[in-house]
Amino acid sequence: MTAPSWSILRLMSHVIVTPVPCLQDNYAYLVHEQGSTEALVVDASESAPVLAALAERGLTARAVLSTHHHFDHVGGNLELKRALPGLEIVGSEYDRERIPGLTRALAHHGGADLAGLSVRALAVPGHTLGAVAFVIGDTVFTGDTLFIAGCGRMFEGDAKMMSHSLLDELASLPDETRVYCGHEYTVANARFAISVDGDNAAVRELLARAEKARAAGIATVPSTIADEKRHNPFLRVADPGFLATLGLSDSVSGFAQLRKAKDSF
Ligand code: ZN
Ligand code: FE
Repeated sequence: MTAPSWSILRLMSHVIVTPVPCLQDNYAYLVHEQGSTEALVVDASESAPVLAALAERGLTARAVLSTHHHFDHVGGNLELKRALPGLEIVGSEYDRERIPGLTRALAHHGGADLAGLSVRALAVPGHTLGAVAFVIGDTVFTGDTLFIAGCGRMFEGDAKMMSHSLLDELASLPDETRVYCGHEYTVANARFAISVDGDNAAVRELLARAEKARAAGIATVPSTIADEKRHNPFLRVADPGFLATLGLSDSVSGFAQLRKAKDSF
């Protein structure tokens, strides 16, 4: 029997994601390959918890991936850069001027090899115009674009743009893709989902599971793209049957109506 080739070993190897709770309800993430001591940081909201989590696990950060320019996602960039010389800061080309410390700008579908991991950027404008999701192996980091059972507010984009980002970009990822989002909003999102999609057993199960997890202090991430298609109203608008319950027939209007309803829920 021949030894497995390097590429097969790579395929079999596992991307490990560690959520790092920051600020009120943000998550930064450490990402590393099993057996490696090099890591990536996604959305460094603040530096202290990220540095502590790296030290605790014996990991060295090589780069920070910033999903968008909001302070609760980049607030730790400059301090981390000072603490970790040579640290790359990766973000959207659009946000060259808005992401503190940016050293590498990625376009839609742009890639980078960092800390032994292959990172691909997906432009997902809507929450902000420069928002990106980062795909690493079977995992996607969605920032404030896609939450578990929800999505971010449209601060800079419109419904057409944001529904395209959600339905055509993120929902097109393989069903088994693990979803790690920027905030712990699952319980509140599931309550809204029940208000518009109450007959959906997947939504009721999610709320029960999320309430139990939060009561025990456990993070509700990750979800999967398959689960989001089942319980996230902002992805369910791709289903004509669900749209019909809203009295609508196109997904952009459905998305716009739900986003407006959620803003004042
Ligand atoms: Zn944001
Ligand atoms: Fe945020």
